[in-house]
Amino acid sequence: MSTDCIFCKIVKGELPCTRIYEDEDTLAFLDIGPIVKGHCLVIPKRHHDPITSMPASELQALIVAVQKVARAIEDGLQSDGLNITQANGSVAGQVVPHVHFHVIPRFTWDGHSWNWNAQSYDNTDEMAECARQICDAFKD
Ligand code: 5GP
Ligand code: ZN
Repeated sequence: MSTDCIFCKIVKGELPCTRIYEDEDTLAFLDIGPIVKGHCLVIPKRHHDPITSMPASELQALIVAVQKVARAIEDGLQSDGLNITQANGSVAGQVVPHVHFHVIPRFTWDGHSWNWNAQSYDNTDEMAECARQICDAFKD
């Protein structure tokens, strides 16, 4: 637990939330500022940040809970689709530094659009070098 983390305070009941789902490891609640109404946050009860430093076993429990919440949103709100997103670092748009997945219902009529600015590689060599740098970093 982190004493000044707002999501840890929600887990401890020190701040309110509109709870959607809870199990031993995970809590899901409505985002206070939904991109689309029904937008949920799914968090580990233990404080972790960023996702890359989270133990795999806890991440497995979290992603299974994300899928449960996603199914409940689909069935309960009859959404036409979903976005599932997760940010790490302020440069990536993260505001609350406690790992969380956004599960966002999408409807044909919701009017939301992502500002997804697709770029391109200068050439295949640049693309291969980028892949090499990532692949070389895999650890056993
Ligand atoms: P991030 O930008 O870190 O990926 O997303 C943080 C999310 O937490 C935002 O969508 C924001 O609306 C939500 N949020 C921030 N504070 C609270 C809060 O006190 N309660 C709830 N339910 N959501 C919050
Ligand atoms: Zn926390």
